Amino acid sequence: MAAYDQLHVFFFPMMAQGHMIPTLDMAKLFASRGVRATIITTPRNQPVFSDSIVKATTELGRRIQIVVLDFPAARAGLPEGCERLDLAPDDAVPNFHAACAMLQEPLEELLEQHRPDCLVADMFFPWATDAAAKFRVPRLVFHGTSYIALCGWYNLRVYDPFKNVTSDCEPVSIPNLPHDIRLTRLQLSPVDRGLLDSYSGELMKRVRESDVNSYGVIFNSFYELEREYADYYRNDLGIKAWPVGPLSLCNESRAERGDKPSIDEHQCLEWLDSKAPNSIVYICFGSGMASFAPNQLGELARGIESSGLDFVWVIRKGRGEGAEDEKWMPEGFEERTKERGLVIRGWAPQVVILDHQAVGAFVTHCGWNSTLEGVCAGVPFVTWPMCAEQFYNEKLVTQVLRTGVGVGSKKWMRSGNDGVKSDAIAEAMKRVMMEGEELKSRAKAYKEMAKKAIEEGGSSYCGLTALLDELTTLHSSRKH
Ligand code: UDP
Repeated sequence: MAAYDQLHVFFFPMMAQGHMIPTLDMAKLFASRGVRATIITTPRNQPVFSDSIVKATTELGRRIQIVVLDFPAARAGLPEGCERLDLAPDDAVPNFHAACAMLQEPLEELLEQHRPDCLVADMFFPWATDAAAKFRVPRLVFHGTSYIALCGWYNLRVYDPFKNVTSDCEPVSIPNLPHDIRLTRLQLSPVDRGLLDSYSGELMKRVRESDVNSYGVIFNSFYELEREYADYYRNDLGIKAWPVGPLSLCNESRAERGDKPSIDEHQCLEWLDSKAPNSIVYICFGSGMASFAPNQLGELARGIESSGLDFVWVIRKGRGEGAEDEKWMPEGFEERTKERGLVIRGWAPQVVILDHQAVGAFVTHCGWNSTLEGVCAGVPFVTWPMCAEQFYNEKLVTQVLRTGVGVGSKKWMRSGNDGVKSDAIAEAMKRVMMEGEELKSRAKAYKEMAKKAIEEGGSSYCGLTALLDELTTLHSSRKH
């Protein structure tokens, strides 16, 4: 094994697929460099990690350990078993965060007992900075998002560019960013619009503070993808940061990420193999953190059908989507499209699909993991941001990288997302698939850069080396 086998790093991800999946990849990446990794999670989320670690090559597997903390769902007023953020109804999200905060004490017990060399804890756990400080353990923040989103978020707060804007629909430039990034007020999160309950507002304030108060921030990104924003973050905002991604390339288990796929991998591959290269559109909107209104799902189905394109469409059984009865599904849709479409209800082996040569475009909500997975696969995007920081990620894709076109998503909405017409969906899909030669060649170039970034000597490889060297120096000084 590599040179860092004296280091022990704790990883504590938020209990949401989009946070646990890259953290598992990250723990494997650290372990591949010799580090001993401990992942902290809760009982119901344990399989996300344990199934994959058992399958990891033995030496790597031995270096990764899982510690399970009870999740105080009932104490925080949540239904028993509600241990993942996407399972919490909108009005119970503050309760979910409150339950997470109750994990500070058991975390402190673990830190006291094991005294790791570093704690990589999720952005949503700002209290982890205080816990780590008590035992002089350096705490790194993992946001699981892009540099551009964090730079935009930061400048939005500092410059308040919406202060004197009267219209909700007027695009406003976020000041001082490397590009002219414009958003409307409707595309801001409720926290950024000052609309959220005080608990969530206070939490996000603490999240921002902990970026500055902690040892630094670790990014699932790579320098070549977000060059200007990585420099801006480090040099202009002055926050220590290390890019170590794309993490999805650092994990050999590709079919089962987060959950068990609802389709047999071989059946899925067989279907894809029967299609010509670059001929299908893959449509998936993440792990279910955001949901569509039933009407919007109907529009989506009509858009897919009228595009005339071949497709794989992942339909989630999300919160309040009417997904169970699928009354929104146009009658006869599957019969009419059965030659050209594969519908996956539930969980798809996303990375396997994206990497298949038949895939020519990815319709995505711009969740950061999906965005990076698309970048690694070299596919152009149709962007459809819904919530979280996805509107910034869309700008990265459509305006900075120029590897995608948008469907025209206008409003930040976590539940019941609505407002995009079938024509716009079909149009964007056709534009990317049929006229997108330049988008495609740029997308291919970023795929190559992503691969190089994690290879020995690449930017992310060196980013991780720099971090591990620093932790080794701290390790030695703590011993004396
Ligand atoms: N994912 C998957 N199969 C699915 C849906 C999602 O494997 O059917 C994975 C996807 O590959 C990505 C993660 O779940 O790694 C979703 O993260 P992202 O940041 O894109 O979106 P979120 O779910 O956090 O909104």
